[in-house]
Amino acid sequence: MGKRIHNFNAGPAALPLPVLEEIRDEFLDYKGCGMSITEISHRSKLFDDIINEAIERTKRLLGLSENFHVLFIQGGASLQFCMVPMNLAIQGRPVDYINTGTWSTKAIKEAEIQGKDVRVIASSEDKNFSYIPRDFQVDKDASYVHITSNNTIKGTQWASFPDAGGVPLVCDMSSDIMSRPIDANPFGLIYAGAQKNIGPAGTALVIIREDMLERVSKELPTMLKYTTFSEKNSLFNTPSCFVVYAINLVLKWLEETIGGLEKMHQINKNKGKILYDFIDRSDFYQGTAAPDSRSLMNVTFRLPSEDLENRFVQEALKQGMGGLKGHRSVGGCRASIYNATGLEAVKALVDFMAEFERREG
Ligand SMILES: *Cc1c(COP(=O)(O)O)cnc(C)c1O
Repeated sequence: MGKRIHNFNAGPAALPLPVLEEIRDEFLDYKGCGMSITEISHRSKLFDDIINEAIERTKRLLGLSENFHVLFIQGGASLQFCMVPMNLAIQGRPVDYINTGTWSTKAIKEAEIQGKDVRVIASSEDKNFSYIPRDFQVDKDASYVHITSNNTIKGTQWASFPDAGGVPLVCDMSSDIMSRPIDANPFGLIYAGAQKNIGPAGTALVIIREDMLERVSKELPTMLKYTTFSEKNSLFNTPSCFVVYAINLVLKWLEETIGGLEKMHQINKNKGKILYDFIDRSDFYQGTAAPDSRSLMNVTFRLPSEDLENRFVQEALKQGMGGLKGHRSVGGCRASIYNATGLEAVKALVDFMAEFERREG
């Protein structure tokens, strides 16, 4: 096997090594059935056990009460931008959005395409989405309030969630799901593309509260209704079997090796602190997010010139650290330090950053 590098990719992103090893070890012969997980029927008992286990683990890890359904829906987070307004907007009542960056903007656009009455009740666009807005009012007539809990590209994160006064929160948690404990009760719906923090690309994890299902119109196309997925345990058609299987292994790792989301959060806070403390002490590296809005998942920073940034990214790769280039839309550098990117990777990065600064600063 070739040498594995420290993986700071933003998505698809690092998976825990024990999970990859388990996948490898049972890839040709899943639990003695003589076939690969990619070769068995989604109607088999073997797969039924996998999807049910993934659902139960999700409920346990997030402490979900009985009135939440856990679904797996193909099409990534981007399809959820469209399904959310399509299913959850109530006739004659606006849909509220808080715009904190590129992904929120895309979510808003999908609601507008459908002709929904979209209100952007807060935005941080005035400062290039470098902060999380705090001053806003949620109107009781809203169908829901949509937020993006972690802004993967801009490097900001909601440290705590806004009080929507009983209006259901809808949240895109693609890049920080399972990185910390949450109180799910104020959320009508949570969705996350799997490929950042919980698995390979190919499905979105959707957590929907029972009362939201009552809003779903029977007139919608079958594959675009949440009820199709909730009524058939996400098995109306063939799901992304391999992805659901891998998600289950990541959730097992979270429960059994890490010891739950409280512990995971501690590790993530520790990783973030090491990196941000280093950036704050340096005059060479500049963090781009407002300190009170910083993400524990995506650490965005700049160097004094684009030329230095390019060399930084290239030299880091030579030293076994990959994925440090910022998103093409914003430039700069970004270290994505999701659950599976460990403390040792962050320490190696900080050592390299110090060395690069000594040489070039
Ligand atoms: C990556 C990402 C998306 C897009 O996910 P897809 O699964 O590619 O559609 C949406 N929202 C956030 C916050 C993301 O990080």
